[in-house]
Amino acid sequence: MTTQVQHLIGGECLDGSGDHIIEITNPADNGTIARLNCATEAEVNQAVASAKAAQLQWRETPVSERARLMLRYQHLLKENHDRIATVLAKETGKTFADAKGDVWRGIEVVEQAANIASMMMGETVENVARGIDTYSYIQPLGVCAGITPFNFPAMIPLWMFPMAIACGNGFVLKPSEQDPMTPMLLAELFEQAGAPKGLLNVVHGAKEVVDQILTHPDIKTISFVGSVPVGQYIYKTGTANLKRVQAFAGAKNHMVVMPDADKDTVINQLVGSSVGAAGQRCMAISVAVFVGESKQWIPELQQALAKVRPGLWDDEEAGYGPLINPGAKARVLELIQSGKEEGATCLLDGSEFTVAGHESGNWVGPTLFSDVTPQMRIYNEEIFGPVLCTSNVNTLAEAIELVNNNPFGNGTSIFTNSGAAARKYQHEIEVGQVGINVPIPVPLPFFSFTGWKNSFYGDLHAYGKQAVRFYTETKTVTARWPESGIVEGQNLTIALK
Ligand code: NAD
Repeated sequence: MTTQVQHLIGGECLDGSGDHIIEITNPADNGTIARLNCATEAEVNQAVASAKAAQLQWRETPVSERARLMLRYQHLLKENHDRIATVLAKETGKTFADAKGDVWRGIEVVEQAANIASMMMGETVENVARGIDTYSYIQPLGVCAGITPFNFPAMIPLWMFPMAIACGNGFVLKPSEQDPMTPMLLAELFEQAGAPKGLLNVVHGAKEVVDQILTHPDIKTISFVGSVPVGQYIYKTGTANLKRVQAFAGAKNHMVVMPDADKDTVINQLVGSSVGAAGQRCMAISVAVFVGESKQWIPELQQALAKVRPGLWDDEEAGYGPLINPGAKARVLELIQSGKEEGATCLLDGSEFTVAGHESGNWVGPTLFSDVTPQMRIYNEEIFGPVLCTSNVNTLAEAIELVNNNPFGNGTSIFTNSGAAARKYQHEIEVGQVGINVPIPVPLPFFSFTGWKNSFYGDLHAYGKQAVRFYTETKTVTARWPESGIVEGQNLTIALK
């Protein structure tokens, strides 16, 4: 029997009454595993109204109680770690180990949300004028919304609603329609942790539901993670409707390999960071830039990549799983073909790869190109597949120029044993997250996730202190309590005395 994915509205799990039905498929064979009825306009309105009503109580709930909800939630997520990872692996095709990592990176944000009191402290200055003090409070906004992508169905929803709710807001989540079961399980566990009914709502669907969120008058902020075209659309439409928007988008992440780096480390780290999760990570390394003689290591990189074998989620030997859907596979194959036609050298071609007994799955084997130039589509477009491009340059300065000319700025790394080279790179590179001998430099949640350029539209980033600022408003109070109770005279100028 096919599972019906439910919505969470006003604390109730509902099938939904929309007639737009979406099937959720197993990426390893494209068989249907679940279906959902997209939320109707009335259901989205009900979700927003529930969040709005619940928030009025929640904003009065002491901050330590809000933090305790996050502690209970963190505990439940850890208890259910394997269960969530199993649901996640089945609907995304990720290996079980990688699915556990997806959940874990989200749990870390919940831990940070449990620290909310110290992050919501305002500022004070005594005697800004005679007998006058000024102090600020950080207050919640009301109803916040999140729109999330398919590739991290646990981590990315958990980037959003725990921080927003810990700050005192209500929340409406619209998860990816391709893997909605994981976010629903996260929401059910949040209810079990004791969240007030209606505070967190989950509405499923596609563009129509997003468009309603973008224009709904009671939604104050929109957090989006997904592709560049949709990110630009969300940012432009959300801000045109006077909402605060943060939109995290696509990427093209470069690893610069200096000739003084440790060869085996470079090869191991490049393999994991390029084809792990089938390359469907916004922080995956998709271009390796070999500086000078380090290009001699490419044949060994090719051998190491050739050993990675994709497989089913519960195959412990599998390096990664299938792509999310047949459209994604067709796109990746088309880009691989374009690379061959545009003159790159295809050293390893995963186009024909399949898994015996699961031939109808969206498999692509590890693929490696050398001699890639910035004019080629495989360099310019985000492939989002297990495809690594390599380019050769003569100097670190040339590598920096190449990376800085790329329109994306999510993540980058340099592998070197030279402190001077690392210092020059971290200082001059126009990318928001930099790894030094670390291939995928995703900051832990006490920092923020700080993509730049076409990888991010907005100003305040996800999680950490920036998330607190994104989900709150600052109120500044200037107060005078004269001992006599009376303020003498009139003041017709603007200065405080
Ligand atoms: P996507 O843009 O197709 O979908 C993201 C969300 O937007 C989904 O909830 C989807 O329902 C909705 N959506 C899709 N098309 C829409 C439209 N036309 N109008 C309104 N809403 C629409 O992205 P995806 O394929 O699910 O995820 C992969 C992309 O996400 C990649 O580009 C990847 O780089 C990016 N990503 C970025 C980050 C980051 O932090 N920068 C993190 C993860 C993923």
